Parts: sequence; structure tokens; C-alpha cells
Amino acid sequence: MYELTICHLYPDLLNLYGDRGNIIALTKRCEWRGIRVHSRPVSLGDRFSPDECDILFIGGGQDYEQSIIQDDLLKGKREAIKEAVEAGKVILAVCGGMQLLGRYYRTHDGKDIACIGAVDLWTHGSHDRLIGNLVFECDFLKKDGFDGLVVGFENHSGKTWMGPGVRPMGKVIAGFGNNGEDGFEGAVYKNTYCTYSHGSLLPKNPALADHLITLALKNRYTDFEALPPLDDSLEAAAREAMIRRLTGKQGSGR
Ligand code: GLN
Repeated sequence: MYELTICHLYPDLLNLYGDRGNIIALTKRCEWRGIRVHSRPVSLGDRFSPDECDILFIGGGQDYEQSIIQDDLLKGKREAIKEAVEAGKVILAVCGGMQLLGRYYRTHDGKDIACIGAVDLWTHGSHDRLIGNLVFECDFLKKDGFDGLVVGFENHSGKTWMGPGVRPMGKVIAGFGNNGEDGFEGAVYKNTYCTYSHGSLLPKNPALADHLITLALKNRYTDFEALPPLDDSLEAAAREAMIRRLTGKQGSGR
């Protein structure tokens, strides 16, 4: 039987707008296919070891929570998380989590929140908040007739920019994305996926959840080939309703 360990970083501090739903979606989609999941909270003072983790999830937080964890992150976990990123472990980081993986985050009132520098991106707080539902198009999800559209919800004052070693996760179709200016949403580096989408992201976007599970199983098991499909008709209907509402167009696929 295949098994995966999902670590949830600071679940008590970084968990906005139902971010924990991402862990539930990953877990259920594995269990429905007979894949056993161990999920492990990793918070202040806990040890994080990349060797004991197949998928790392980091949710979003207010500037306040981000500042509470900075010492623990920098002193206790920075090297291990960077090692996980470089080793190609599967990582999903949402909003504040994405900002913390970057080089630095300067808040709208000029405070620097230290970040770990695992991904070549940086964030400047602005006086406006970028709030609302979001649709973006991910080329890596376009297969078997699926349109690659991902739906989410964003609420951030930070505007994020990427360096050359990182590619965007998608192109914004509706909403703001990373900064409301360059048309990009999120960032991908190796198997680290960063996004501004809360909401929760993965229950609404099963194709993205399965993409991450597939990468994690391929990392761990040389004989793993592909996930069997699930009945995602309810999720597909919800996703398509949101795409229609925000773009006026019909989505296609699950
Ligand atoms: N504190 C960050 C910002 O406002 C992140 C907020 C969030 O995770 N939603 O930009």
C-alpha cells in the first residue's frame, strides 16, 4: 500500500480562510484510492525533517502571525525547509506562506518580516488590499481536455515579484494575483507551488490536488504510474459555476 506523510507547518498560526481544507482534500483524495496518509502538525518548537515529509503545506497568515513565527522559522526550520525545496519535495504555500518562502517581505508600514529565501520571490506591502475571487490558468494542468483553470480567493496587501529562477504558477484571468500588475499568479520552483489562493484551494480544484499527490507518489515510489480517477462531478460543477460568474465563460473538464 502506498503511503504519504503530509506536514502542516504552523497549523495554529497560519490558517486563514479554511487553508486547512487543503490538508483534508489531499488526505481524502488519497484515502479514497487506498493510499494511507499520515498528517503531522509542525508548529513552534517542533522539529521539521524533510526526510520524514512527502508534502509540506504552509497556509496564510496576517502580518501579525507571520511576525510571531519568524524566530522559530529562521532559527529552527529555515535550513530544513530549504533542503526540502531543493530536494524536490512537494510543497504548497498559500499567501503568507508563499511570502515567507521568499527573500523578504516589507510590510505596508515599512517593517521587515524575515523570510527564509528558499524561493526567488519578494513582497512589498501596499496600502490597498487585493481582495476577491480569482481565476487563473495553469499550463501544467492542461491535459485530457481539462482547461487548466484554477479558482481561488485572495486577500493580501503584499505584492509579490519573482526573480528569473522561478516561473509563475499561472496567468490571471480574473482577479489580481501576485501584484495586480504583471498578470501572473503564484510561483513554481522545482516541486514548490506558491499561490495567493485561499478558499480552500484544493477542494475546489481537484486537478491541482491530484497533480501534487502524483508528484509526491512519484518522488517516493519508482513503480507508481498514475492515480485512478474519482467522481469529481460536484467539484467540477462548483468550479465551473465560479468560472462562469467571474469570466462569463464556460470552463471545461474537472
Ligand atoms: N499578511 C499578508 C498580506 O496581507 C498575507 C495575508 C494572507 O495570507 N491572506 O499580504
